[in-house]
Amino acid sequence: MIEILSPSELPRARAAGALVADILQDLKGRAAVGTNLLDIDGWAKAMILEAGAASCYVDYAPSFGRGPFGHYICTSVNDAVLHGLPHDRSLADGDLLSLDLAVNLGGVVADSAISFVVGGCRPPESVAMIEATERALAAGIAAARPGARVGDLSYAIGSVLSDAGYPINTQFGGHGVGSTMHQDPHVSNTGRPGRGYTLRPGLLLALEPWVMAGTAELVTDADGWTLRSATGSHTAHSEHTIAITDDGAEVLTVPTTARP
Ligand code: MG
Ligand code: MG
Repeated sequence: MIEILSPSELPRARAAGALVADILQDLKGRAAVGTNLLDIDGWAKAMILEAGAASCYVDYAPSFGRGPFGHYICTSVNDAVLHGLPHDRSLADGDLLSLDLAVNLGGVVADSAISFVVGGCRPPESVAMIEATERALAAGIAAARPGARVGDLSYAIGSVLSDAGYPINTQFGGHGVGSTMHQDPHVSNTGRPGRGYTLRPGLLLALEPWVMAGTAELVTDADGWTLRSATGSHTAHSEHTIAITDDGAEVLTVPTTARP
């Protein structure tokens, strides 16, 4: 299913995007050496409920996970890259943490992910990997406009990741967003320009480049949810929800403090 928002629905999408971005920035500020992943989940839950929003994760039970997710945010550390189930684990200096959050506010879903290094240690490989996913995300957003094809975005994202030396996994990628979290079209993190669905104003897309150093192979953790690099190498993930506008794209998952 593909949903197209009317112009009058865009403010609701902006509000959902701001909420997700604000929560992620708040959690990034609190995630320190010694912080437990279950505390991050609890803070996310409190902020989602306080805002009157609904979690897209807590009851989520897709074919690729084991039963309902049961938590409010994905916390993926180091070799974990996607769908990280929050565990009783305390963060250490230099841990590479990815937070992925999707909520429904006022009937519209926003979905965003950020990756960052915890503490004062700044491993150059981790920083480079995070920056590559951020650059790939920016390239995908820059390619998004009415008339562009999904393949144009995939190509833009994949070119940055490949040029940075990362193999690309095509099992999971970006997606349409609307009244539910995962809709068509699928936006692969690599592809051919000029192919696929043609974008039009009112379409919401979640773009989400992610990489694992030196491998494209995932393994599923014993928890039935967390996806890890098959080699145990570090990973990173960046995601924004965008709206296709009349002349380009608007990033919806922008923190309130960064808005004009
Ligand atoms: Mg997400
Ligand atoms: Mg997503």
